[in-house]
Amino acid sequence: MRSDRYHDVLYDHHCDPRNAGGLENPDLVKSSEETSCGDDGEFHVDVAPDGTIEAIAFESESCAVSSAVASILSTELEGMTVEEVAAIDGLIAGRFEGQYPALRRDCVEGPEDVIRIAAQDYLERAGAD
Ligand SMILES: [Zn+2]
Repeated sequence: MRSDRYHDVLYDHHCDPRNAGGLENPDLVKSSEETSCGDDGEFHVDVAPDGTIEAIAFESESCAVSSAVASILSTELEGMTVEEVAAIDGLIAGRFEGQYPALRRDCVEGPEDVIRIAAQDYLERAGAD
């Protein structure tokens, strides 16, 4: 059964997280800022020479919602360019708009903020070389 509903999608990724764990020598590591919920996670990213996301993994001590969103992101960002990831805006939150309680905003938007800032950092560093 495929569904685009917030609860179904999150439950699926919660039960069966994709890309959980770490990468051996990631090009990019970014930890989450503290959220109101206390979420704490870290993305590992491998960037291919052509600037696309080759692999992405996450380690999470976050709540179920935040971990599930990180899992969704890890599947959707693979194959995108770092530039595209640096510009994502509401990729997950927009899709679930109105379906999650305001209390969960940090949990839904947090992981997306982390990976966007990570991509922006990466581009900045690449530009400085
Ligand atoms: Zn949370």
